[in-house]
Amino acid sequence: MSPNFVPHRISPAEVDALRAKYQAERDRRVRPEGAAQYRRAAGEWGYYAADPYTERVDREPVTSRVEAVVVGGGFGGLLAGAKLREAGVRDLRMVDEGGDFGGTWYWNRYPGIHCDIESTVYMPLLEEVGYVPRWRYAPGEEIRQHAMAIAKRFELYSDALFHTRVVDLRWDDDAGEWTVTTDRGDVFATRWVVLGSGTLSQPKLPGIEGIENFGGHTFHSSRWDYGYTGGDQSGGLHKLADKRVAVVGTGASAIQIVPHLARDAQHLYVFQRTPSTVDVRDNRAIDPEWAATLRPGWQRERMENFLTIVTGGHADRDLIDDGWTATARLQRQMLTGSVDSNLPPEEREYLDELADFRKMNEVRARVEAIVEDPATAELLKPWYRYMCKRPTFSDHYLQAFNRDNVTLVDTADTGGISRMTPSAVVVGTQEYEVDCVIFATGFEVGISGVVSGTLPVHGRGGMPLLGHWRNGPRSLHGFYSHGFPNLFHLGSLQNAAAVNFVHVLQEQATHIGALVAEAGRRGVRRIEPSLDAEEAWIATIRATAPDNYAFQAECTPGYYNAEGKPRPVNNSYGPGPVAFHDLLRRWRAEGGFDEVM
Ligand code: NDP
Repeated sequence: MSPNFVPHRISPAEVDALRAKYQAERDRRVRPEGAAQYRRAAGEWGYYAADPYTERVDREPVTSRVEAVVVGGGFGGLLAGAKLREAGVRDLRMVDEGGDFGGTWYWNRYPGIHCDIESTVYMPLLEEVGYVPRWRYAPGEEIRQHAMAIAKRFELYSDALFHTRVVDLRWDDDAGEWTVTTDRGDVFATRWVVLGSGTLSQPKLPGIEGIENFGGHTFHSSRWDYGYTGGDQSGGLHKLADKRVAVVGTGASAIQIVPHLARDAQHLYVFQRTPSTVDVRDNRAIDPEWAATLRPGWQRERMENFLTIVTGGHADRDLIDDGWTATARLQRQMLTGSVDSNLPPEEREYLDELADFRKMNEVRARVEAIVEDPATAELLKPWYRYMCKRPTFSDHYLQAFNRDNVTLVDTADTGGISRMTPSAVVVGTQEYEVDCVIFATGFEVGISGVVSGTLPVHGRGGMPLLGHWRNGPRSLHGFYSHGFPNLFHLGSLQNAAAVNFVHVLQEQATHIGALVAEAGRRGVRRIEPSLDAEEAWIATIRATAPDNYAFQAECTPGYYNAEGKPRPVNNSYGPGPVAFHDLLRRWRAEGGFDEVM
């Protein structure tokens, strides 16, 4: 629990006041156009998505046959590649739009970048690669290097194609294999395809009037221009010493960036629409003596322990004991401590709400304790429930607002920045003259090319996947669909997610690897669920999916609730990831393979 935590009772009058305040603050920020307020960093805005790190090199198209293709070279794809190698796949081709492996960690290299989940549970395959992270919350570059180390350890570089986007997937009924086409003119045949193109990978920009007229320098936080700023991911942005810099957005990325810009820019304007919750970070080096005591299986034990606790399960000890596990514990204590856990749902919800108010009071008290100017502190206080937005952690962000060269510009009442001129960012009638604008405005959510239609997939008999899914996704366990043999999806799709998403991806990759290995043992060439199996899984999802629509609908807008317009249908497995992983293990052990082979 954070040192600032001061437990206190919340009176019924305070509950009413907080509810009213949350509602009023939400209403200030809801925009009728919802997610349509954003524009894709593509086409005429493609500059914001271009790769600033690796030169794109011309090459001849590749035409060949491989055993397996993995689309995406982030942790999802890397884990799938590793598990396919372990399953005995020799000819394996990884394809990624970036210039190397790493996915999120390839693209995001902004100053201050760190993972906000503890490195010992976030960075996958540490024991397999033989690495112990140096920091409790690892810097981005250490994570990127680890991604590359995984690729080397499992020999994933050999046939890899970078700066390459898969644009078409077509099942060939006669040959019994997939034809994969890319934007570089490659065409290759393969038996297995794994799709791991990520969920928060496409940068987005706010639809600000006049953005195209801005004459100064500009870029997105996930495409950092060190040529312009100087320095590197650890800071030292010396070229900004004579620059007035604007950063747009105050989400998890900006929280890490702002302290560096504050230190190095002549003047920094932080354009905020909704403040983040910013809790204690307490990052520190991992003690080598502690690392020397670790015994085989240590990472799995920590990962399972973290997942159990943050999803509300019971563990005798909290091995990670940080801001994530503390908040889960807080809620669980409220529900199972001195309180009867067989309470009716309304009472449980009320107790959840009280726990939430206490946590958020603590977060707001921390702002007041750190930020010296009372008006600025007031603007930095978040007024919404803890999980309405991704919580953030920093011991430097709030402190940055005590500097004379930092100005917080609140844009809540104008729905964000009003417009841009060739030299300024405008909020209402106030113009802020700046040399550089950095958009820390996030990413499109859950839009794999398969779902958005930019990667058309045709299965048996030429059936389009989106046709098969016209009434919503159809799958067994979120992995594969009837009519689309040997094609596996990674990510959030009729399965269970968690804040440590890499753990979820690892379990998914393990399952895919087990399917392919079993097919090899049986000499089976096709894996495919029946329509009945799909139907049964959809029924399970419908019966168990948690109903969090009301919670989402009351939340301040953000990408968690589709910018204030949550979908009433929830497609996740209600019992959560621990139960889902158990279910997969049991399925594999108890004859599940017979269902699909
Ligand atoms: P977010 O989507 O979280 O934040 C975007 C920000 O831009 C918000 O503050 C938003 O305000 C603001 N914004 C959007 N439009 C406007 C506008 N017109 N005017 C002013 N402000 C605007 O993006 P991030 O890149 O910060 O984070 C995305 C996700 O990436 C995180 O939630 C997390 O999942 C992941 N991440 C993970 C990290 C880790 O350590 N694991 C680190 C960094 C990111 P508003 O809130 O009002 O919409």
